[in-house]
Amino acid sequence: MEKFETTDYKNGIYCVDSGYDGSGVAAIYIIKDGKEATIIDTANNESLERVTRALDELGTAPGDVSHIFLTHVHLDHAGGAGSFAAEFPNARVVVHERGARHLIDPGKLVAGAEEVYGAEAVKRLYGKVVPVEAGRITSPRDGDEFFVGKHTIVCLDTPGHARHHLAFHDTAANAVFTGDSFGMSYMELVRPEGRCAILTTSPVQFDPYAMRASMRRIESLKPDALYPTHFGRMLAKGAMVDSLYRQLDIYVKIADESKGDLDLIREGLRDLFKEESARQGCPCLASPTGRVTTLALELNASGLAIWYGKTKK
Ligand SMILES: [Zn+2]
Repeated sequence: MEKFETTDYKNGIYCVDSGYDGSGVAAIYIIKDGKEATIIDTANNESLERVTRALDELGTAPGDVSHIFLTHVHLDHAGGAGSFAAEFPNARVVVHERGARHLIDPGKLVAGAEEVYGAEAVKRLYGKVVPVEAGRITSPRDGDEFFVGKHTIVCLDTPGHARHHLAFHDTAANAVFTGDSFGMSYMELVRPEGRCAILTTSPVQFDPYAMRASMRRIESLKPDALYPTHFGRMLAKGAMVDSLYRQLDIYVKIADESKGDLDLIREGLRDLFKEESARQGCPCLASPTGRVTTLALELNASGLAIWYGKTKK
């Protein structure tokens, strides 16, 4: 059986590498206190086995998983939600009210992903996306709280990457699970001196102004750590955070100057990644064949073009 590690971040927080699209791409977090555990984000169906094994090693039975928190319904976060809900029969699936209907009927979600990634890739990455029964879903309001042992999990409405995005603040650990709302940093962007990060502005609901407001709000909580889905713990302050705000400004400038032209946006982002590569000391951001500079750049460019088209035309 393939060997993988569960990272113990202490304070009851664990990270399972979902294995989605390789290693170090999509994290699934577990918060555990006593017997009880909750899961944050689900990657795809194939990730379930890794999570059940991790929970087993931690001594949590499937029936003791109380919640499956979803930051948003993009398939690299929620593609496994239906399978996870079936495996953990007592878990409430917590998702933004704008995302709930897409879990109940994933057809539109799959079609949307096919438009972005192509049908072939969607099949390879996600297999058959399993719906979640409506009765299992809870859609919180901003500020609503859930409890896992002594951990209080506060839901934060954090639009920007998507309108239906939630972040989850674990006040006991003073950690925020940021999904895609506060940058991403694949494992290859981790260097001994620290990590570098880029924004995730994928289609179709990216809004840079909302993203900035959400980031400021998360920062205002003064969390000890951020846990983005892509990937693993990051500090909530310092050069990396400054860089994300700077990148956000440049994204808006690129969109304005290119007047939404996708080729020009691509070019602008390529230059930005090169600049950030030098500034952040991270060669992966400039490598012409790396997955950051290929897949992420393409997704970010098209999300930015779509935003420009919606707001400026
Ligand atoms: Zn996303």
